[in-house]
Amino acid sequence: MSQSGHNTRAWVEIDLPALDRNVGRIKQALPKHIRYVAVVKADAYGHGMPEVVTRLLQAGVDTFAVANVAEASRLREISPDADILLLSPTLPNEIARALELGLDITINSLEEADGIIRAAESMKVKARVHVKVDTGMGRSGVWHEQAEQVFAKVLGSSSIKWCGVYTHFSDADTDTDYTIKQRRIFLNLLQKIPSDIHSSFLIHADNSAGLESFSSDSPFNAVRIGLMQYGLPPSAGSFLESLKPDPVLSFHAKVVLVKGLPAGTSIGYNRTKTLSRDSKVAIVAVGYGDGVPTAASNRGIFLINGKRCPILGRVSMDQTVVDVTDVGQVKPGDVATILGAQGNDRITVTEFCKWSDSIPWEALCTLTQRVQRVYRSDRT
Ligand SMILES: *Cc1c(COP(=O)(O)O)cnc(C)c1O
Repeated sequence: MSQSGHNTRAWVEIDLPALDRNVGRIKQALPKHIRYVAVVKADAYGHGMPEVVTRLLQAGVDTFAVANVAEASRLREISPDADILLLSPTLPNEIARALELGLDITINSLEEADGIIRAAESMKVKARVHVKVDTGMGRSGVWHEQAEQVFAKVLGSSSIKWCGVYTHFSDADTDTDYTIKQRRIFLNLLQKIPSDIHSSFLIHADNSAGLESFSSDSPFNAVRIGLMQYGLPPSAGSFLESLKPDPVLSFHAKVVLVKGLPAGTSIGYNRTKTLSRDSKVAIVAVGYGDGVPTAASNRGIFLINGKRCPILGRVSMDQTVVDVTDVGQVKPGDVATILGAQGNDRITVTEFCKWSDSIPWEALCTLTQRVQRVYRSDRT
């Protein structure tokens, strides 16, 4: 890839057929009774919510999770019927809107339960809720020792349809013992819920990292899938370890200037790098204003002509300088790949994260608005 067909300087390409394939593979690997909850918060992890949700609906996904009412409202415009789970606590002044939109509201405390019941009564609607239990994450959710009181409140209200219960693991990909402890607390609490509550009641705990729990005797009947549907591989030891999802997103920018500089020249702000040899450098029109963090300064790699070009000096807001001394002919308009494949090489999100002190979720979410999203929707 030496030229791209459009005019923008920095863009991400979203491979929608790859999203289809990933969803298909995940669904196929899950036991039949497990419901797939597609997590599309933060603009579908930077991929663009409308396009991603439309595609997921076509792929047969009918349950979504988002962080807040504003995100849910956008999603509701795309799908009037889908189940939409709000993952974060809902503020008192947001409850009426959440009820209007028919969202599945997460209850994290007795007070929140009271507020939802009052609002539902006065609007004469039935609130759909999930109770979230904090089993050791120390973040949202009702602390497990108080969970039974919330269960009782929810069961006792005729204005509530109790749709599910869930928890979240803090270390699903790295600390098995802690996850087992969290899971045990959660399983014990499930004993307190009437087993005949209703057939569509959802019990879920796992995100992409923690999908190993689906033995036939497990009570779980749903999973919340974020990262993996966007093509990040499951962690070692997880239920879906053998899956090889295809990366959905790649990130590119154009070279805007190429020049020779003598040994000893300092590069960029603060002169954090001095050239050790006579060099040819390329200025690429991408920087931290687009999602290349300054942590990548003097460490990161872009692909140009399919070859690895080290970043020189500090990443600026709009420009990054890379060493192209050894990569043959390079000219303005050529494409630098920051994430994804070029020629026979590829920068994976995992690699990008190593040199940018980041984590995959963050790397995807911090691609800024300025970076144009270009969608590929051809069937392959
Ligand atoms: C974001 C989120 C997920 C999705 O996690 P991934 O690791 O991206 O699969 C699942 N559950 C909750 C509560 C979340 O906030």
